[in-house]
Amino acid sequence: MNQRLLFLGPPGAGKGTQAQQLAARHGMLHLSTGDMLRAEVDAGTPLGIEVNAVMERGDLVSDEQVLAIVRGRLLNPNQGWLLDGFPRTLVQAEALADLLEELQQPLQRAVLIDLADDLLVQRLLNRGRADDTADTIRNRLRVYQEKTAPLIAFYEERGLLARVDGEGTIDEIAARLEDLLT
Ligand code: AMP
Repeated sequence: MNQRLLFLGPPGAGKGTQAQQLAARHGMLHLSTGDMLRAEVDAGTPLGIEVNAVMERGDLVSDEQVLAIVRGRLLNPNQGWLLDGFPRTLVQAEALADLLEELQQPLQRAVLIDLADDLLVQRLLNRGRADDTADTIRNRLRVYQEKTAPLIAFYEERGLLARVDGEGTIDEIAARLEDLLT
């Protein structure tokens, strides 16, 4: 599947799991800024050292730092890709639109995977990642509402938004995505 997609949605909605599986099934490039940043932290790079505390709090890494790691990963026009966890702010969304226009690889769809707040908290607590403590989860949901949720209107206005219900099992959600995209 040679599509250019992004996944949007609150933390805990299942974006990462679904993005990884969809990309693997269809031979697309899966670009998760969270994974890329965690790799920088684990490798102890200068960027990793700078962003570590920000990520532990559940705050957003600066737009400049995130854009620097995304740029250059989208250069192969022959492969479909799936952005996961990026963009997360309007500044990032505008920068992405500019970059894709420059590359003549327009985005084809922004897929919103949505889920009610109480279910999100439950899922995040079950996941048990280092930044999944109760305090951090509350902060990440607040940051999502404030900084990322406005992207829903951004992509809706551009006629690119599709919505998928994030409630249910991994396989049920995967089937909804396949119906939507293939
Ligand atoms: P995720 O794996 O997508 O939940 O991301 C984990 C953490 O990495 C987030 O809580 C942020 O601190 C940081 N992060 C990931 N993607 C971005 C982004 N696009 N903009 C800013 N910070 C990000």
